[in-house]
Amino acid sequence: MACKCPRCGKGRVFTQSIVSLGKFSDTFDNCPNCNLAYEPETGFFFGAMYWSYALIVGTIITGGVIMKLAGWWDYAIGGIMAFLLLNIPVIIRYSRMLMLFIVYPMMYKEKFYGHPIEDEE
Ligand SMILES: [Zn+2]
Repeated sequence: MACKCPRCGKGRVFTQSIVSLGKFSDTFDNCPNCNLAYEPETGFFFGAMYWSYALIVGTIITGGVIMKLAGWWDYAIGGIMAFLLLNIPVIIRYSRMLMLFIVYPMMYKEKFYGHPIEDEE
């Protein structure tokens, strides 16, 4: 999975690899390539919690449907829970990527694009 800067698409977002225990969610302060500040304000990544929640609920529903269709309903809860546990680093990292790619350009236009954006009417 390529977790690259939402503005230039080249700089890395995370300092460590995903298998780096305890550090997989450490992000650079700025994009190493275009210098975009990854955290426009303190606590920006707090919002990633909501994305994690959405991703987890989405996974449970999708997993439930797949298990049901496959006839493995008896193993659904255990299977989905194991899958979620194994994928916690993926979920946390993608939640942050969603913040950077969706919330950042919407809420912090000036910081994201580097200059004030005029409303076009
Ligand atoms: Zn960049």
